[in-house]
Parts: sequence; structure tokens; C-alpha cells
Amino acid sequence: MTNRFARAAAALIALLPLPASAWGPVGHEAIGTASAEWLEKQGYTSAQKHVQALLRPGETLASISNWADHIKYGSPLPGDTESQAFLDDERNLVPTVEDGKARHFGFHYTDRPFQARAYEPGGIGARPDDIVGTLNECIVSLQNADKGGQRFSPRVALMLLTHFVGDLHQPLHVGCGYIVPGEGGDWRFAYPSAANGAICDEGGNKIAFKLDGRKTRLHRYWDEHAVLTAAHGRSSAIFGKALALYEPHPAWKAHGPLNTWPRVWASDTLAASREMYAPVRLVSASGEGAAREWTIAFDGGNMAYSRLSGRLADRQLGKAAYRLAELLNAIWPTPGKTPKQ
Ligand SMILES: [Zn+2]
Repeated sequence: MTNRFARAAAALIALLPLPASAWGPVGHEAIGTASAEWLEKQGYTSAQKHVQALLRPGETLASISNWADHIKYGSPLPGDTESQAFLDDERNLVPTVEDGKARHFGFHYTDRPFQARAYEPGGIGARPDDIVGTLNECIVSLQNADKGGQRFSPRVALMLLTHFVGDLHQPLHVGCGYIVPGEGGDWRFAYPSAANGAICDEGGNKIAFKLDGRKTRLHRYWDEHAVLTAAHGRSSAIFGKALALYEPHPAWKAHGPLNTWPRVWASDTLAASREMYAPVRLVSASGEGAAREWTIAFDGGNMAYSRLSGRLADRQLGKAAYRLAELLNAIWPTPGKTPKQ
């Protein structure tokens, strides 16, 4: 890749509209804080040491948790060679998804139909470089850091991994609604097939409703409103500490080979996607082709949906934090605390 192309692409990135980042900064920071608490509580000292060695003075898991979103929309500051190197790497830049955005935008999600019972590599909506594939690349890069020549540098791999474990638990980063016309001019969600030609709602980015009089896309609602509802006015630091007090459900614990964990967690998030799509009704459509969008409403109304979203976001954030600590311990196991694989 030439520098000229890289600069042009970076300028293009800077010009794109600013969609919300997954879970928003508050959600990711809370996960980082809670995960650091879990490392301490569980006695995962080896992971703590390795993480510390990759962080710079004053940095924490919380403070690096949004780097993966920052590089989506801003040009690196002068001297930030790390971000520049990431953006210059054509494996992160050349678009592979139809939207023409730099490839790393697509690292943050996958587009499985919410009705699917499991994440399947090669299944509808999955890509080799989607969130599941990229998380596995991060794990491999950290496990083999001594050997050099990995897909991501150890520090970048840690920053990406911290962010993507969070994104993997945002229901709209794994499950999508696929939309088909119903009979009589209405619209409905359906499992996509060649026969029905269903259109993906792009993780809730193409469906919107009025919230306090303002058009709000469902994706943004889950990144921001749902997280703030769960946080109840607390800062990300205080909210994160509270998340680390939860009694982990046995199902939060991962088993088996490490490279299956992201896939298993994606399948688990699909259950949350089904919960969050269950009350969503398609009301009407506007626009044509790629510009088509749908207006939605919720069974039970906005207030009931707000309660559901706060409850579900709280659970997903808590689970993500616990699992991030488990994953870091699996990558850098503390003797006597090695997970069963
Ligand atoms: Zn993200």
C-alpha cells in the first residue's frame, strides 16, 4: 500500500459520519474496570503482570478499551506510530465488506440472523475476519508473541481483544434482523434464504424509532441508552466496580480449546439478540435500495423496552468483563489456575 493511498483512505475515514461506537465509551470502560477487578479477585497474577507489561504508565484496561473505536474515526496524532502502523497495514484497510469502509470496521461485528441458534463459521452473516475470527487472531498473536511476526503486535492485540470481548457481548454486534416484505405491504423479520431475499438491518442501524421526539437507530440505542440505563448515573469506574461484584453464572465460564471460546460466546450472545428483538415490530419503510430504512415500535411501548434494555445490557456487560479476565488468564495462565481445555 502506498502512503498516498493510506492517507487518502485515512482522510476518507475522517469524513465518514460518526456512528455510535459499540457499547459506547462508558460500556467499554466499565468492562475494562470490572475485568481488572476480576484479575485481582481471582488471583490471576500472571495475566496481571503480562497486561501491565504491555500498558504504558498511567494506562489501564479501561483506558485502552476504546482504542479500536478511536482509530475508526480519527487520524492518529503526530507520533502515534502504533495507530498509524495499524492503519497503514492493508490487511486492516482494504474493504472486504460491501459498504466500502476500511476492513477493520468489520472486525467489530458479525451479522448472524438473530433466529440462528449458534455462530457458525461460514454460516449466513459470518466472515473469516468478523469479530469471532479477529478475536481468534488476537489470541494467537498474544500466545505467540515471543515468536514475532504475528498478525497484530502484542500491545495492539491486547487493545483489540479488550474491546472485542466487549463488542462480542453487544447483542447487535452478533445478531441482526433480516427483513422481508410480508403480505399486504407490511414487513417482517425472517430467517434469510435465497428464496426470500431478506435484507439485513445491519445490526439495527437501518431500523429506527422516536425516542423523546428524536429519531434513534436501534443500534445506537443499545450502545448508549441501554448502557446509561444500566449504569444508573454512575461513572464507568464505579459502574465497572459494581459489575465485578456479580456472582458469575456457571454458564459464563468457558471450557474447551481456547480458539472455540469466541465462537461459543457469540452463540451465547445470539440468545440475548433474540430477547432484544422479540418486542421489535416493523411499522413502515422509507427510501429505496441501500438507503431503505424501517420505522419500528416496541410491544409494550418505549418504557418497557427501556427496562428490558437496561437489564440485558447490565448482564451482558458483567458477563463480558468476567470472560475477558478468564480469557487473559487462559492466554497467560497463573500456575494452579489453568482453565480446563
Ligand atoms: Zn467496537
